[in-house]
Amino acid sequence: MTQAQQTKREQIVRCFRKLYEQGTINLYEGNFSARDGENVLMTPSQQNKETMTPEMLVVLDAAGNVLSSNGLRPSSEARMHLEIYRLRPDLGAVVHTHSAFASAFALAGMPIRSESAELHLFYGGEIPCCAYGEPGTDAVFAEFERYFLRERKDAVLLANHGLVAAGRGVEEAFSRAEAVEKLAKTALLARLLGGERPLPDGASEALIGRWRGDGSI
Ligand SMILES: [Zn+2]
Repeated sequence: MTQAQQTKREQIVRCFRKLYEQGTINLYEGNFSARDGENVLMTPSQQNKETMTPEMLVVLDAAGNVLSSNGLRPSSEARMHLEIYRLRPDLGAVVHTHSAFASAFALAGMPIRSESAELHLFYGGEIPCCAYGEPGTDAVFAEFERYFLRERKDAVLLANHGLVAAGRGVEEAFSRAEAVEKLAKTALLARLLGGERPLPDGASEALIGRWRGDGSI
């Protein structure tokens, strides 16, 4: 294993644990992956994030075959991650959470929409909500081609389930999972305060235009 591969493994485990420490995911839930050349490093199924080590990550090929596993099973959502890598060569890491505020929108079957400048500038004004698909089956990602490929989204909700966020690297995927959770939370809180103040005329189009030009953070 090269130093770069070891560093990436450490980064995944560190960011995954941080999501747990933030309360974004529970001890055993969620999953995180990153490209490793032609292959993918994937968090194992049902393992304690406090004791997870870089050596516990499972290596899969692009078809989902296990290349090395230390006797652990890859996450049951691995195929969902592989689909994003298939659709978007520019994305290098994927994270799936059940964070509370994003999942509240997913439970309601509602995309996250708000008047937030950040949501427009970095996410094109909306985090869409995919139709329900049974967890662990291909139905979960039936709409990924539409959202990740055609609409160039980097994060989507899974109806009645949770959130999937992706980035060029591990930290960007992590930061997007954090950011979308915060955007969901603030959108809900603003509604409690009596509703959102609309962006000024033309601001939404201007911000979305910038997102189309450069969706990076
Ligand atoms: Zn899940």
